[in-house]
Amino acid sequence: MLKDLSPGQNNKELKRFYRKMLKALHPDLGGDKEEFLKFLAWYTEQHAKDKNFKAEVVKRLPSQGNYVYRCEEFTLEEILTLKQKTLVLPVEKKCPDCDGTGYDRCKSQVCGNCLGTGLIETLSSRSKDKVYVPCPFCGGRGRVQRVICSTCLGRGTIRDELRVVVDLPLGLEEGDYLYLPRDRFNLPQDVYVEVVIKDHPNFKRVGKDLILEHSVSVWELLLSDFIEVPTLEGRERLATSDLRISQEIVLKSRGLYYYERGDLKRGDLIVKLRVIYPIDLPLEVKECLNLAYETYKRLHQGG
Ligand SMILES: [Zn+2]
Ligand SMILES: [Zn+2]
Repeated sequence: MLKDLSPGQNNKELKRFYRKMLKALHPDLGGDKEEFLKFLAWYTEQHAKDKNFKAEVVKRLPSQGNYVYRCEEFTLEEILTLKQKTLVLPVEKKCPDCDGTGYDRCKSQVCGNCLGTGLIETLSSRSKDKVYVPCPFCGGRGRVQRVICSTCLGRGTIRDELRVVVDLPLGLEEGDYLYLPRDRFNLPQDVYVEVVIKDHPNFKRVGKDLILEHSVSVWELLLSDFIEVPTLEGRERLATSDLRISQEIVLKSRGLYYYERGDLKRGDLIVKLRVIYPIDLPLEVKECLNLAYETYKRLHQGG
């Protein structure tokens, strides 16, 4: 599948390809798990190499300069599998209704200086006669535009939203700042986004590892060959024969990305099973279990 992509392909094509493959290969949508993981690893490598259109990570805000600061919540899915986030940034832009003047273009008021005549009386310096000159306040129009623009309430600017799709660098940590340079993202100002990682309903972050606590009934554990647990890359089948030995299973390199001496690494996903036992056992069930136990002992001793 990867041979379709030549190494010279640009970022946009790479992303389009990634999205297509993500859909085609995702195990929850019927794709093959091994192939999906292989693809994710491959894309991650490509993605790490590519520096275009990507936000940079800084550990602190600049002490001076004109920039916009935002705090944003990121989900684990955005950081680990989508590697992309749409940010909605507030921007101020010139009010289109008053063209930035702050006054209503269509509504005018009688000029207070000339009382609407457009002329003011003054004495001629030469003849000392009364002369009339155009009112300087309204330019002789007799009316002034002093009705506040109802769109911007006189500010001359309105709030607008700018949607920016940001490629997330790998190894993003809570408290990092994403730096979006103005030129690269076509923004009115540089933007710094503080990263807050949202708590996930299933996965707990412990250092670079993710912990999944999963409940399973003792019946399932005894009677099924596999159980399924959710992971960020789709559902994973775990053999119950392994889980009867240890109720803690480590899925290698399925946790958070991080850099160690310049190398990109990934933590683990640790699945911790909580075995649920039935609270009340009806007599009938108990008898069956007794019979099962006797059978098991007999077979075990025999074998
Ligand atoms: Zn306006
Ligand atoms: Zn006037």
